[in-house]
Amino acid sequence: MSKIKIAELFYSIQGEGRYMGVPSVFLRTFGCNFKCAGFGMPKGELSTEIESIAYRVSDFKTYEELPLVSTGCDSYASWDPRFKDLSPMLTSDAIVERTLEILPGQRWDNAHLVITGGEPLLGWQRAYPDLLDHDGMKELKEITFETNGTQKLTPEFKQYLINWGMGEDREVTFSVSAKLSCSGEERHEAIKPEVVCDYQEVGYTYLKFVVATEEDAEEAIETADIYRAEGFTGPVYLMPVGGVESVYTLNNRRVAELAMKNGLRYSDRLQVPLFKNEWGT
Ligand code: SF4
Repeated sequence: MSKIKIAELFYSIQGEGRYMGVPSVFLRTFGCNFKCAGFGMPKGELSTEIESIAYRVSDFKTYEELPLVSTGCDSYASWDPRFKDLSPMLTSDAIVERTLEILPGQRWDNAHLVITGGEPLLGWQRAYPDLLDHDGMKELKEITFETNGTQKLTPEFKQYLINWGMGEDREVTFSVSAKLSCSGEERHEAIKPEVVCDYQEVGYTYLKFVVATEEDAEEAIETADIYRAEGFTGPVYLMPVGGVESVYTLNNRRVAELAMKNGLRYSDRLQVPLFKNEWGT
């Protein structure tokens, strides 16, 4: 039976993108190919908040105890190796058992599954079919992969998802948060239009750019054009930066205005005003 290293498994409301407001199970896998040494830090510098938390990592026994950060990656513990011991390797049976425990009435009904990270398409593509074919997942209709859009689907997993999506009322979505320069990642590593266009052959695919300033929005528009030139046809969202409320509220209205001005969609981050972006929300 396949195992996946799980950073978090929780039930909440999807706060971002296409399924905003939809009750969802979030499966946060461990591992990412990026560090996003940016987001409020000078490019290339790791968040000093994350560094100070990592320094006393042994003080924390669960994700819920970890402090939130206003700079760097807000899900740092799902990929930083210094936090790896907080994420157990779980079998498909264990994941499904826990999932059914947290789902109201133990039924998928209108709930959808969000497979997030870290970067969920980095290391676990071979393990997902075992999980998704499990008896307890049979009623599941909708899956979203929240990805940074750099990981190509393997031919086997691509075909598996195409077949899965052909089931009645089933749909696969790729929510692609491509990283702009404010993330600190190098453009040639972060922007992979050919990878994202390949997702389109499997399911509904959209781009979601995290922005704070007019310059970020301009970069997002310019970058979206590069994807379009490659054949990308899906919608483009702008979403405010801000893993903590003080940062989010500084720029959410501004980002909504920038989206309107440029004819793009706006995505909120409902988990911030609703739940303060606490772990497990
Ligand atoms: S790609 Fe996402 S999970 Fe990975 S470091 Fe960047 S923000 Fe964090």
